[in-house]
Amino acid sequence: MAMRMAGAAARSASHRISFSTGHLPSMRASSSPLSRQITMDAQSLAARLKTSGLLRSQGLIGGKWVDAYDGKTVKVHNPATGEVITEVPCMGSRETKDAISSANDAFQSWSKVTAAERSRHLRKWYDLLISHKEELGQLITLEQGKPLKEAIGEVGYGASFIEFFSEEAKRVYGDIIPAPLADRRLFVLKQPVGVVGAITPWNFPLAMITRKVGPALACGCTVVIKPSELTPLTALAAAELSLQAGIPPGAVNVVMGKASDIGDSLLESSQVRKITFTGSTAVGKKLMAGAAATVKKLSLELGGNAPCIVFDDADVDVAVKGTLAAKFRNSGQTCVCANRVIVQEGIYERFATAFSKAVQNLQVGDGFSEGITQGPLINEAALHKVESFVEDAISKGAKILLGGRRHSLGRTFYEPTVMGDVKSDMLISREEVFGPVAPLLRFRTEEEAIHMANDTNAGLAAYIFTSNVQRTWRVTEALEYGLVGVNEGIVSTEVAPFGGVKQSGLGREGSKYGIDEYLELKYVCLGNMEH
Ligand code: ADP
Repeated sequence: MAMRMAGAAARSASHRISFSTGHLPSMRASSSPLSRQITMDAQSLAARLKTSGLLRSQGLIGGKWVDAYDGKTVKVHNPATGEVITEVPCMGSRETKDAISSANDAFQSWSKVTAAERSRHLRKWYDLLISHKEELGQLITLEQGKPLKEAIGEVGYGASFIEFFSEEAKRVYGDIIPAPLADRRLFVLKQPVGVVGAITPWNFPLAMITRKVGPALACGCTVVIKPSELTPLTALAAAELSLQAGIPPGAVNVVMGKASDIGDSLLESSQVRKITFTGSTAVGKKLMAGAAATVKKLSLELGGNAPCIVFDDADVDVAVKGTLAAKFRNSGQTCVCANRVIVQEGIYERFATAFSKAVQNLQVGDGFSEGITQGPLINEAALHKVESFVEDAISKGAKILLGGRRHSLGRTFYEPTVMGDVKSDMLISREEVFGPVAPLLRFRTEEEAIHMANDTNAGLAAYIFTSNVQRTWRVTEALEYGLVGVNEGIVSTEVAPFGGVKQSGLGREGSKYGIDEYLELKYVCLGNMEH
């Protein structure tokens, strides 16, 4: 791997964490030789990506790479080192209006080409994403921080939505309805909704975009993408590859900068017929309210508070492996990450010991170093949130079983942490911690576990670990969640519907259901058949 550091430097980047009962010392190691080495390599990697044309630092409007109209920029940082990778345009409403108008022009032709042609273009885009897997993975690690192996995994996952919807493009069938009157014929057409505004977060810089843009383009919509300002580079690289795939100029536009100005322009435009959003519940609610003025279609994938229930009858090894995957993927920064590990009292001690042992083996460090499984948190705000949740839990009686403080690597690295004796009223049980902290809560009966799991406004992912088939069905049916993993911690795939209930959102992404979010039904009644 081009960016992997050789030898001792790489090994020393990955600190083994140790059991600890202390918490919250503020340590910084930003000017160590290690971080200088990482910084140098990251900079040469950025230069290489620039030469290859995949590191773009302009927005894309109507097929043209453009700066902000007032020339302003936003810096994009590498969260592992704090270094500035590049600057991107700080765009606002003027650029967004132009992007909408380009998308609207492109819609007139893209919606009319055959499904087979759209399918071919998407397939080409998929092939290009896959053939640039390594570089896209490097970009993800550079701007987001997740370990390179995980980042390359995200490229495969992200690209799979383009492949899947390139195939689904050809399967958007309408219907013929038996008419209630002999001289009528009734049918249903499915047509693309129009221009789509796609607003995405930083935790999956590629997959959250392809999951939206794949089905949108497949059925003839065009898009204005607003990636997170923290991770716009992967979005821009993917957009570059969409152009190389022959997807017409204006079908895919990318603007970034002033989030609320861009959001407001998308909401106000009557040409934008749909907003698809992944991000915080607070912003999702704002968008939902804002979409009312022009009555837009909406898909919202918002925050979760995933329970991970381990029953006495679970296989401990399976439960540990599954919980580890559900909790620590992307250093705990996903909306389907286990937020509360709810463990039955008969297995609690055994699980806590085995789980802490497994967590202790996680390697923390720069995502480009060999063997790392835990990268940095995205920024200081994320780190402070984790710290304040841990502090709140400790002040209310929770015990640190492992970790519980900033990592000695400094910056936004945090020790993978396990907390015992956590209670339902602690902040960490009420809200998403979005970091590498696993709180263990104890329960006695199945009813109590279901009550604890459902005692939240969120309803995205839930996990259960049990060997009892009847219990699997009972609990799965009782859980108020959009996704349930049974004896499995990683459930997302392009072929299955992803989305939440309650305040976790509206609509589903991926799968045969995902394309419906971008389609309108048109009922046609043909009368007067006798003449
Ligand atoms: P997170 O906490 O994951 O960053 P946010 O909801 O703040 O979640 O961000 C998700 C996406 O929403 C990002 O692209 C962000 O820039 C964008 N965003 C934030 N505020 C607004 C807004 N008022 N209107 C539109 N988009 C917004």
